[in-house]
Amino acid sequence: MSAGQAAPVADLRSDTLTRPSEGMRRAMAYADVGDDVYAEDPTVNALEARVAEMFGHEAGLFCPSGTMTNMLGVAASVPRGTELLAESRAHVLRAEVGGHAALAGVTSRTWISPDGTLDADAAMSLAERANGYNQVGTAAITVENTHNFSGGRVAALDELRRLRTLTAERGIRVHMDGARVANAVVASGCSFADQGECVDSLSLCMSKGLGAPVGSVLTGDAELIGEARYLRKRYGGGMRQAGILAAAGHYALEHNVDRLAEDHARAHLIAARVAEAVPGTCDPDIVETNIAFLSTAALTVDAAEFAELAAARGVRITPLGEQACRLVTHLDVDDAAAGSAARILAELAERTAA
Ligand SMILES: *Cc1c(COP(=O)(O)O)cnc(C)c1O
Repeated sequence: MSAGQAAPVADLRSDTLTRPSEGMRRAMAYADVGDDVYAEDPTVNALEARVAEMFGHEAGLFCPSGTMTNMLGVAASVPRGTELLAESRAHVLRAEVGGHAALAGVTSRTWISPDGTLDADAAMSLAERANGYNQVGTAAITVENTHNFSGGRVAALDELRRLRTLTAERGIRVHMDGARVANAVVASGCSFADQGECVDSLSLCMSKGLGAPVGSVLTGDAELIGEARYLRKRYGGGMRQAGILAAAGHYALEHNVDRLAEDHARAHLIAARVAEAVPGTCDPDIVETNIAFLSTAALTVDAAEFAELAAARGVRITPLGEQACRLVTHLDVDDAAAGSAARILAELAERTAA
């Protein structure tokens, strides 16, 4: 270890940082495989069917990333030049490097949800019909559940249902960016099928809290998934003996769903300890899942400086903007690590309090 660098305590930058466990690696090594571009990989086929069934959808499509499943889900519902509506901090628009516009010709407008919760009326207030040669029509709305950049907020099921009813009346499709929908399900006690019922397409990441190294599954009806399968090849996402990767997804669904509750409890504990040290830095009441935000507004340092101080003590967090750091708990952060991280972050907040 070089001088001035602390021993690693907890890497809270993201839940993508988990490494596959011994059991998961074993499942991957011995997976049954075939050529998935020929739809002949039994492990991939089984994972696609399994995830589709979980959500009550007809079909599934295994892809290398959640960016790709979002791309394909949106592209299958939004014809070139028509419109997708999203919340202003949606991953689809903020963290997919413009792919929907650059590759699929999707135009977009955003509603703003200051606290990241879903308001069906705010979404619908932007919806427009195509109008002659002049105005673009809204083809789809995307909902992120949980909402990453607003602190892992859960979309309320009754709002999702209301959005479903309102969009159906207007012939507008709904795509769920459900990268962390398993966290939403575990936190709220609803079912995967409840989520699936509210949307036309849904993207689930295996590589977030579920702990797989690679992979996301898109679900929807057979026609939508057929179109997505065609576009997946066009975008260069056709994989061959991908059962090696899909096996990690099966393992994740068998072992790592219910345990997400532990991640939620640890994120809440960290936020509560920091809030206790310096009120206003964290709000444990809005930590519903595995993501917490720490505001540096009441501190003498900005978010980047605070993250640097934390890193020097072995706790890695992500500055997002000038005054907010994001902390994410996951499979590789146990109770001891979460406790130490909480203590260190609370001490730093106290030390830098204005
Ligand atoms: C991680 C994530 C994705 C997918 O990102 P990849 O890096 O492509 O796996 C999509 N949506 C949200 C909300 C995410 O957090």
